[in-house]
Amino acid sequence: MSFTLAIVGRPNVGKSTLFNRLVGKKLALVDDQPGVTRDLREGEARLGDIRFTVIDTAGLEEATDESLQGRMRKLTERAVDMADVCLFMIDARAGVTATDEVFAEILRKRAARVLLAANKSEGSAADAGVLEAYGLGLGEPLRISAEHGEGMSELFSALMPIS
Ligand code: GDP
Ligand code: MG
Repeated sequence: MSFTLAIVGRPNVGKSTLFNRLVGKKLALVDDQPGVTRDLREGEARLGDIRFTVIDTAGLEEATDESLQGRMRKLTERAVDMADVCLFMIDARAGVTATDEVFAEILRKRAARVLLAANKSEGSAADAGVLEAYGLGLGEPLRISAEHGEGMSELFSALMPIS
């Protein structure tokens, strides 16, 4: 049996970078400008010998009349409802922000299973942020670097029991 993983979190934490790494193709747009990917994107992921569906969430920066908060909430809820497990990503270099707290709250209320990932964790600049992530109440953070491919075996170990 396969499963669906949704990568959620505020813009610019590295969701699309991880999505592309897992899918092995540049299906999602990665940019230094936050939130260049639109809406939800689905791909077939492979990690070690497990295969699963992965969803990238984005599309939060397009100008609409609706508030960013409202759109963010709706999009995240849609992704959460499609997923068997959510990977909630923070930027360990930035630490936990107020927006991260909003996402964490949505996930605590709505998601059946949540994995917490502290991304951009290469090097010691991320140490403080990784520690802060424990305070989100979503379990032990996986220390990863989507860009450099670090922490992928820990991610594999966390997903293995679900597959
Ligand atoms: P998204 O908005 O959450 O989808 O974030 P993106 O995947 O578009 O990445 C936003 C920025 O963070 C880009 O400049 C990426 O190159 C950068 N980034 C992603 N992963 C890492 C990482 O592991 N380490 C560092 N230092 N930068 C990263
Ligand atoms: Mg993106």
